[in-house]
Amino acid sequence: MECVGARNLAAMAFCSSPSSRLQLRRKKLWRKRGVSSYSDAIRLRSFSLKVEAKASTGSESCVVAREDFADEEDFVKAGGSELDFVQMQQKKSMEMQSKLADKLPPISIGDGILDLVVIGCGPAGLALASESSKLGLKVGLIGPDLPFTNNYGVWEDEFKGLGLEGCIEHVWKDTAVYIDNKDPIFIGRSYGRVSRHLLHEELLKRCVESGVSYLGSRVERIVEASNGHNHVVCEYDIVVPCRSSFRETIAI
Ligand SMILES: Cc1cc2nc3c(=O)[nH]c(=O)nc-3n(C[C@H](O)[C@H](O)[C@H](O)COP(=O)(O)OP(=O)(O)OC[C@H]3O[C@@H](n4cnc5c(N)ncnc54)[C@H](O)[C@@H]3O)c2cc1C
Repeated sequence: MECVGARNLAAMAFCSSPSSRLQLRRKKLWRKRGVSSYSDAIRLRSFSLKVEAKASTGSESCVVAREDFADEEDFVKAGGSELDFVQMQQKKSMEMQSKLADKLPPISIGDGILDLVVIGCGPAGLALASESSKLGLKVGLIGPDLPFTNNYGVWEDEFKGLGLEGCIEHVWKDTAVYIDNKDPIFIGRSYGRVSRHLLHEELLKRCVESGVSYLGSRVERIVEASNGHNHVVCEYDIVVPCRSSFRETIAI
């Protein structure tokens, strides 16, 4: 998963976009107010919404879609203390990203067993599916057909190593690390902001070229069959048999 989504906190602090400045400011304020739990976060929610409103710009304005949570787990699943930012991401315009179902052939269940099912169509899922397929495995990808909405910041040299440098839209030539509020330490490594649109299109292209098939559905469970195969059970009781699913494969 880390191959295309490595998160670097030092470099994130170096970025000076309005949303990251806002995030730092909000985190500082939350720390000052001792937010550590769900109830604290809910208590301070009106405060955080006021801060968010200041960050609104054009079509990316933050409109909170949901405030009712059954319990702490429900709150954490929706984004937890980063909820406002997750919702802001979801409202970004994503028309530039192709639909997977328009480009990938559907998984054909009667057409021989898949060697591998990769669950989830984020950057890690698309990269893993295409790389495994290139190795000769018969790979099916299963997950909702959603655009990439998250932010991806990467070390430029690592992305070059993956042949993905064309997906970087901005490069900072050096990275400053701050420790204990002392002077910045420049580490001589360039950091890039990835274009989520270009990354989506490039990873999808790799899936198309390597022959990955696709099913747009959520996986509900994985059941081990008596013959040692896995049955990946999706919505509407669609069952996709395979030799291996993503989780087991990385454990080998
Ligand atoms: C607000 C925000 C800011 C971020 N900023 C940065 C940054 O600056 N730099 C950086 O490097 N990283 C950043 N990240 C993290 C980065 O976006 C993630 O590391 C990256 O998205 C992880 O990719 P992934 O493919 O592993 O998972 P995801 O992108 O989360 O993809 C997982 C996919 O699995 C699907 N899925 C889940 N459950 C099921 C199921 N049961 N069946 C089928 N499909 C399922 C989901 O629909 C989703 O499409 C940020 C994340 C957020 C939310």
